[in-house]
Amino acid sequence: MEIIFLGTGTSQGVPLPAHPNPGLDRANPKNWRTRASVHVIIDGVHVQVDAGPDFRWQCLQNDISAVDFLLLTHEHTDHMAGLDDMRCYYNLREGAPIPLYSTRSGLERVRAFMPYAIRETPRKSGYVEFSLREMPATLTLDGGARIHSVRLPHGRTQTLGLVFIESSTGARFVYYSDCKEVTPEAEALAHGADVVVLDGLRPETHPTHMTVGEAVLAAERIQGRRTFITHTTYQLDYGTWAPVLAADNVEIAYDGLRLQLG
Ligand SMILES: [Zn+2]
Ligand SMILES: [Zn+2]
Repeated sequence: MEIIFLGTGTSQGVPLPAHPNPGLDRANPKNWRTRASVHVIIDGVHVQVDAGPDFRWQCLQNDISAVDFLLLTHEHTDHMAGLDDMRCYYNLREGAPIPLYSTRSGLERVRAFMPYAIRETPRKSGYVEFSLREMPATLTLDGGARIHSVRLPHGRTQTLGLVFIESSTGARFVYYSDCKEVTPEAEALAHGADVVVLDGLRPETHPTHMTVGEAVLAAERIQGRRTFITHTTYQLDYGTWAPVLAADNVEIAYDGLRLQLG
C-alpha cells in the first residue's frame, strides 16, 4: 500500500494570507500545508480521499496518475471544493462515471453543489460525472482489499473514519481526520494499525476538532505503529512541535509525505 499525503492543513490552509501567523517558520516547507487529503494506492487501486480547493495543484505536485474512486469524508468545503477538477481522471475512464462514496449528508451536498456532474441528471459532455453511493460499513475492492468505515462526531455533522486493509500484504492504514473524538467503535477498528492519522488541529480546544493533546491521548489508546496528526493550523510550527510530539511517539504529517506499507 502506498499513502501519499496530498494536503495536511486546516480549512484555510497554512500559512494564512493577510495574517502574521505568529510562531510559524515560513522558511520550512513542512509549514506550507494545503487542504487535507490523501491518495491511497491499495492492491493497485487508486483511492482518492477528499478533493478540496487545492486538489488540482496537489495532483500535479504528486504525480497522481489515476483515480478509481473517491471517498468524501464529509461535506465541508475544504474537502470538496475541488471535485470539478476530477474531470481529467474521468476522461481516462471511457465514459464510466467515477464512484463517489460518502455519508448521506455528504452526498446531499454533492447533489446541491454540482448537479451537472451526477449521472442521473441529463448528461452534458465534457463535465466530470460521478455515481453517488452511500459508504457501507465495509467496502470490498476488486482484488480483495477492504475499506471499513465508521462515523466520527464533527460538530453538527459526522465524518467518515476510514480503515484500509490491503489484501496482498495485510497492511492496515487508518485515516480519522475532522473529528472531535475517536469513539470506542472507531478505536477498536483502528487498534494496532500500521499507520494511524488523526485530526490534531491545534493546541487550544475547538468545538469540532481534536486538539493536539486529545490526539495524543487517542494515539496512546489506539497503539498504532506510527501515528501522525493532520489538518493542523499555523499554531503547529513543525520545527517547534515535531520534537515535542516525538516524545509521545506522534509525528506531524506534511504535504508530499509518502509512506510505503507492506
Ligand atoms: Zn476540514
Ligand atoms: Zn470538517
